[in-house]
Amino acid sequence: MPETRTNITDIYCSKCDKRYDSDAVLTLCSCGAPLLVDYDYNNAAAQLTPEILGERPNTMWKYIEVLPVKQIENIVSLGEGSTPLLHSRMIGESLGLESLYFKDETVNPTGSFKARGLAMAVSKAKELGLEKLIIPTAGNAGSALAAYCARAGLQCKIVMPKDTPAPFKVDGIYYGAEIEEIEGSIKDCGGRASELMEQEGWFSIATLKEPYRIEGKKTMGYELAEQFDFNLPDVIIYPTGGGTGLIGMWKAFDEMEKMGWIGSKRPKMVAVQAEGCAPIPRAFQQGKDHAEEWQNPETVAAGLKVPSAVGDFLMLDAIRQSKGTALAVSDQEMMADTKLLAAREGIFASPEGGAVVTAVKRLVQSKFIKPTDEVVLFITGSGYKYLDVLEHFV
Ligand SMILES: *Cc1c(COP(=O)(O)O)cnc(C)c1O
Ligand SMILES: [Zn+2]
Repeated sequence: MPETRTNITDIYCSKCDKRYDSDAVLTLCSCGAPLLVDYDYNNAAAQLTPEILGERPNTMWKYIEVLPVKQIENIVSLGEGSTPLLHSRMIGESLGLESLYFKDETVNPTGSFKARGLAMAVSKAKELGLEKLIIPTAGNAGSALAAYCARAGLQCKIVMPKDTPAPFKVDGIYYGAEIEEIEGSIKDCGGRASELMEQEGWFSIATLKEPYRIEGKKTMGYELAEQFDFNLPDVIIYPTGGGTGLIGMWKAFDEMEKMGWIGSKRPKMVAVQAEGCAPIPRAFQQGKDHAEEWQNPETVAAGLKVPSAVGDFLMLDAIRQSKGTALAVSDQEMMADTKLLAAREGIFASPEGGAVVTAVKRLVQSKFIKPTDEVVLFITGSGYKYLDVLEHFV
């Protein structure tokens, strides 16, 4: 682990710019918007350079100068991050794309990229002296929180819909978490978690409702920059639920520009959702700044089943500023492409992985993507945790 320390200064509101002390336990801003972490980027740039990064061991903590943990000993890690960037073998060629890549997040601890955000949030919770962490989840976030809480010696409670696939309950139980199952969607779970926060003193690690999960997810942006030699790719296709990864990478790009590592060029950010739950594509197409809640969300891709997101305006802003787009794909298409991804590329992914494959096909067809573009698909979760779902599509 590097000897140097964080350059965190304070916390700011993503909407009204109100500032908060970085030693305080924080949730949302008083105005209701997500809070983000600020750093002294001049200092950070003096301490950390692409050359120094190149000499450090590959872990997501190598960016510590621009991560929020103050004391190295508070880091709670299971080896998350530093995932491979795989060049496509066959799908790219069949689409006429020479530079199609997969960022393979399936190899993270607990089988998804949720590990990055939860490792960071649990490390910060430990640093701030919190002891009881709760999360509303459709699956992967609960597993990750439970694992990192076990590692940190903190209490964990998971609130999940009753119809959540079994693996997410079994691993949670093994990790020693308390599990509460709810009749309803992730949104109802969020409501129940809020209740438990008030009644029993749990602290919620729900997406963007505390400032640190996104700081873990932003490391995907730093890694991509490193893997592309600080020339960002042309297009990033991201399966979007609460949007922490999209917003986090967008923040990482700004940070790297402030430190002089990259210029102002940005990848086109593409958000992919499911036809049965597509609040972001709908709001994007209607030209709205906020996304209305999606009624009766339905999709096999649990990670995309987020009917309303507190960071919706941040996602829409990043998509538009980057000249990206947002689209919805059907469950049938994404399942067919989940198979394609396994059979043609050797990547056994959750349905969200199929969704971005469907999306790239469409975007090539519509000429949004040019044959010469460098394109990165985020393969966010492992198929091994979705066997209950996948076996129905064999
Ligand atoms: C949570 C999740 C997503 C969505 O991620 P966000 O950053 O919340 O938008 C996508 N894929 C998988 C497998 C997930 O678990
Ligand atoms: Zn605010």
